[in-house]
Amino acid sequence: MQECLFCRIARKEIPADIVWESETILAFRDIAPVAPTHILIIPKNHIPSLNEAEDPQLLGQILLAAKEIARQEKIDGEGYRIVNNIGENGGQSVGHLHFHLLGGRRIGWPPG
Ligand code: 5GP
Ligand code: ZN
Repeated sequence: MQECLFCRIARKEIPADIVWESETILAFRDIAPVAPTHILIIPKNHIPSLNEAEDPQLLGQILLAAKEIARQEKIDGEGYRIVNNIGENGGQSVGHLHFHLLGGRRIGWPPG
């Protein structure tokens, strides 16, 4: 049994504001949002980061889920950003693969 934080959220042991769910994927609002819409999309199974991800179908499903959630959040028209942080230089702080869906304001570029 994984003791990882996002595994525990996926198992519903820790509460989260869930906005979308499938058999393999969970999406919930970030606890410290950096944009009006800030949602985390995770595989329910533990994968530490994109470096360890191997299932093209799952990765495709996550991107399609992001698109669907953006529509649900009504930010698809004005635009949004999907971010995946990997490792130390990427700024990853939780070691369970997750994609940030950010929207509701203009997101700056380049990243800091
Ligand atoms: P990272 O920095 O790894 O790319 O992103 C981790 C994200 O998880 C951060 O944006 C952080 O705010 C969020 N986070 C950390 N702990 C929790 C939690 O317990 N619940 C939720 N909903 N988000 C969390
Ligand atoms: Zn995990």
